[in-house]
Amino acid sequence: MWYAEAKKIYILPFGKLPGAVIERLTDTLTETFKKEILTADEQPLPVYAYDRYRQQCYSTEILKRINDLNLDGIVLAVIDADLYVPGLNFVFGEADPENGVCIISITRLRQEFYRETPEYELFLQRTVKEAVHEIGHLYGLFHCPDPECVMHFSNTLADTDRKTERFCKICIKGVTA
Ligand SMILES: [Zn+2]
Ligand SMILES: [Zn+2]
Repeated sequence: MWYAEAKKIYILPFGKLPGAVIERLTDTLTETFKKEILTADEQPLPVYAYDRYRQQCYSTEILKRINDLNLDGIVLAVIDADLYVPGLNFVFGEADPENGVCIISITRLRQEFYRETPEYELFLQRTVKEAVHEIGHLYGLFHCPDPECVMHFSNTLADTDRKTERFCKICIKGVTA
């Protein structure tokens, strides 16, 4: 796949994002994927993908539009809006390995979303795990049975919190090969 050859990973913000999110992503992605990490220009919130009955954005629609930006590398879009695909109540993120683009939502990664006390470090860790997971899909990786591997499927945040931000011994081969 061409992503292994790509020299850059773009973080593409949709709407305003906390500076700490960009910083933590930049640090972790640099270390994990050994590529240049750049932050692309902030995009307006994707009104074209918004479903006002669900009050969520259709992530596949957003991924399609990202292709039109023609960024010369892997793209990780980040948005603070709830995402869905038809048939599911919500998704934490979605990847399109064909085109090398993926998106994560940070909305459900905050404790506040569940009326719990804010835990900023936990929120940042979850963000990083979801990002590494989606980019892992762009490298052609599938879900991993190891519950500590970042490629393990997160059905709930408990799954996300159990896994680490790292690839297991087998999955790492797909990223560094
Ligand atoms: Zn996945
Ligand atoms: Zn694994």
